[in-house]
Amino acid sequence: MKLYEFQGKQLFSEYGIPIPKGNIIFSRNEIVNINNPVVLKSQVLTGGRGKAGGIKVWDGKENINNILNDMFSEEIKGEKVAGVLIEEKVEILNEFYLSITYDGSTATPLIVVSASGGVEIEVVAEKNPKKIAKIPFNILTGPKDYQIKYISEFLGYDNYKEIKNIISKLYCIYNNCDATLVEINPLVVTKNGLVALDSKIVLDDNAEYRNRSLFTKYKNQQQSCGQNNYKVRKDTITYVSLDGTIGLISDGAGTGMLALDLIKDAGGEAANFCELGGITNAEVMYDSMKIVLENPNVKSLLIVLIGGFNRMDEMAKGIVKYKEEYGLDIPIAIRMCGTLEEIGKDIMHKVNIATFDKLQDAVNEAVTKAGGEQFAYTN
Ligand code: GDP
Ligand code: MN
Repeated sequence: MKLYEFQGKQLFSEYGIPIPKGNIIFSRNEIVNINNPVVLKSQVLTGGRGKAGGIKVWDGKENINNILNDMFSEEIKGEKVAGVLIEEKVEILNEFYLSITYDGSTATPLIVVSASGGVEIEVVAEKNPKKIAKIPFNILTGPKDYQIKYISEFLGYDNYKEIKNIISKLYCIYNNCDATLVEINPLVVTKNGLVALDSKIVLDDNAEYRNRSLFTKYKNQQQSCGQNNYKVRKDTITYVSLDGTIGLISDGAGTGMLALDLIKDAGGEAANFCELGGITNAEVMYDSMKIVLENPNVKSLLIVLIGGFNRMDEMAKGIVKYKEEYGLDIPIAIRMCGTLEEIGKDIMHKVNIATFDKLQDAVNEAVTKAGGEQFAYTN
């Protein structure tokens, strides 16, 4: 889950990382006593707002209502503006880049730092890779003093204690909130020391169960500002929207990928990828049907189940529950096998839903019913 700048800055402030004084507003009518000069920052999840016109300085000359009106009605790179953060204008002496993330290939957390802050780090990495330092550290102990000293030298910033303070707080956020990225760009040098001028935080969706209250808070905030960026995720469901017409639900990721290939081979296009996460139950099946069938492009539904730990009676109950509550006015093809398969099939047949033993047969059925071509399957 990506956080907005204002959400990230709230976290920074809770952990004691210095941020500029400011206020977030969610509508153009909300202004209260502002002394100029201020910086007005459109709240969107996409990066590079500055260049895209999402950051304006107000020096008291123009009518601020007009500027805010414009900001709330403009889209930034196709994204609706969720709010505007109004902050005191900071006098910048220098801009750094600082983040904590991880390197998947070595399974190690990293501090990434650069004295060329303000611009997107990808651009620096391409044009001037030597200006970026990546420092792996031990997740259990956090960054060590010698590493912080190295960073302060690399940045040419003498106040080692200040750097240490900010990095150790970033590390606490990274660790406590199960973040995959905690980024400050730019971290600016002012005459009063370092200030985090921007924030970019991504929380690990797989750790939602460990951070319920945090996720709930941010989701509610994001919804109340009219945004629905948080992609559907119920317990273990992974959902990715695609362009086709065949809704697909699989109980595991591997079968899901295989089904995607087979749909394509049979001349169809999937409307989504949706997998339940392996071990699952009726409620998750029911939820996944709600998610997949909300998409109006879905012309037929393919459900691919392999009962290992997963029980077919449970899956069938979830499907029936959906049918009873919402009806099923599109064709549905289910491949069901494995644990308690007989009971599952029985439940399906009682509500007149056919089941298939062979994956290929179920795929062909779904593709044909969605109006796509169907090629004979050859080995
Ligand atoms: P981004 O473009 O979405 O990454 O937005 P940022 O919040 O990082 O702001 C982009 C740039 O705007 C910064 O690198 C600064 O150069 C400038 N900027 C943002 N806030 C201030 C401020 O308070 N004072 C000054 N002088 N510049 C600012
Ligand atoms: Mn930035």
